[in-house]
Amino acid sequence: MTTATTPANFTELGLISPLLNRLTELEYQQPTPIQAQVIPSVLVGRDLIAGANTGSGKTAAFALPILHNLAIQKHSERTSGSKGNYVSELILVPTRELAKQVADSIKSYSTHFNGAIKTVAVFGGVSANTQMLALRGGTDILVATPGRLLDLISSNAIKLNKVKTLVLDEADRMLSLGFTEELAELLALLPKKKQTLLFSATFPEQVQALTQELLTDPVEVQLQSTDASTLVQRVFTVNKGEKTAVLSHLIKQHQWRQALIFVNAKNSCEHLADKLHKRGINAEVFHGDKGQGARTRVLDAFKAGEIEVLIATDIAARGLDIEKLPVVINFDLPRSPSDYMHRIGRSGRAGEVGLALSLIDYEDYHHFKVIEKKNKIRLEREQVSGFEVDENITAELLAAIKPVAKPEGTGKKKRKNKASSKIDVWLNNF
Ligand code: AMP
Repeated sequence: MTTATTPANFTELGLISPLLNRLTELEYQQPTPIQAQVIPSVLVGRDLIAGANTGSGKTAAFALPILHNLAIQKHSERTSGSKGNYVSELILVPTRELAKQVADSIKSYSTHFNGAIKTVAVFGGVSANTQMLALRGGTDILVATPGRLLDLISSNAIKLNKVKTLVLDEADRMLSLGFTEELAELLALLPKKKQTLLFSATFPEQVQALTQELLTDPVEVQLQSTDASTLVQRVFTVNKGEKTAVLSHLIKQHQWRQALIFVNAKNSCEHLADKLHKRGINAEVFHGDKGQGARTRVLDAFKAGEIEVLIATDIAARGLDIEKLPVVINFDLPRSPSDYMHRIGRSGRAGEVGLALSLIDYEDYHHFKVIEKKNKIRLEREQVSGFEVDENITAELLAAIKPVAKPEGTGKKKRKNKASSKIDVWLNNF
C-alpha cells in the first residue's frame, strides 16, 4: 500500500468549475482532512481504503471526484442520461437513512450539472415500484442498501455489469449489520475491472478480508487521531422489552475490557445487574445509595480493570476520568441533552479511540431526536443483527403515539405498566 498525498484547497485539487461553484455556495471553505487526502487519489483512478467516520466529510471525499470524473467522461462521450438499465457508479451503504442522505448530498453537489448526472437512492422499507420507475433508463449514480438492490436486480430493474466505480461506505457497519452474504452476491455481479473505494471506521477481520479481495494496490488513508473526534457515537433501535437481551449480546460479542452502562435510577442499577448476572455477566453498580467507601472501592476496581461491567447513574457521568475506557452505553437515555454529552465523554478521551452506544426503543425515539438536535449531532439508526426491530409494530406504535395528547400528569405513571405484548404496551400507555 502507498500513503496518500498532502492536503490542498478545493481549487488546487483541480475540481471542475460546476463543483467549485457549488462548494462556494455551500460555504465549504477548505477540504476536510479526509477530503484533502482522498480526492486526489480518486481523481486519478486509484483504489483506496480509508479509515473515516460519518461527520468527517467523507461523503464529499468520494462524491466530488466521482462527479468530476463522471462529468468529464460524459462530456467526452457526448452522452446525456444513461442508456439501458445500467449504473455507472455504485455506492453501497448500510442503512436506509444513509442511502438517502448520501444521495441527497450528491444531488446537491451536482446542482450545476443541470440534470446531466442522474442519481438514484434505493433502500428497503418503501415501495419498490417508485424506485423501479426512477431506475428506468438506468442511472449514473446509484446509492443503495444491499437487500433492496438485490431485489431490484432480480426483477431486472437494474444491471451492475457496467459499474465503473464501487464505493463501500461504512464497510465495518455494513458487515456488523449482517450483510456479508448479500455483499458477496452483489460483488459477484460487478465487473472485475473497476475502481473500488472502501471506507470503514474500524478494520476488523471481515473488512480486511474484503480489502484483500477487492482492492488493487490501494492508497491507504488513515486520519490521525487529532484530525477528528476519536469518539464514535452509535445508536441502536431495539424492540420494547429487549434492551437487556441486546445489551448482554453486545457485551458477550465484543468482550469489552471495560464497559460503563448508564441507567436513570438507583434501583435500575440493581435490577439490571441482577438480570445480567442471570445471563452470565458479572456487573457492579455505582450509585448514590451506596456508601462512599463502597463507591470508592468499586470505582477504583473499575479503573484498575478488575471490574468489566459497571452500571451507574448520572453520578458517574461527570468528570470521571477512566483511562482508555473503551465503551459507554446508554441503556436508559439521559434526561437532559447535556448529560448525554457528559456521559459519552467518559470514553474517547485524550485522543484514545472510544465508543458511545445508545439503545433506544420506540418510546425513546422522540427524546433521542431532541438530544441530537440540542447537541447538533445526527446519527443513523442501526439495528443489532439478530434483534431486528419489528418495523410494522413499531410504525403502528409510533403512528399511534403522535396524534394522542397525553393527559397532564398521567403519562409517566401509566408508562410503568408491564404489558405482555407490544400492542398491550401501547394500549396501556394511552
Ligand atoms: P459527512 O461526514 O459526509 O456526513 O459530512 C458531515 C457534514 O460536513 C455534512 O453536513 C457536510 O455537508 C459537511 N461538510 C463536508 N465537507 C465539508 C467542508 N469541506 N467544509 C464544510 N462542511 C463540510
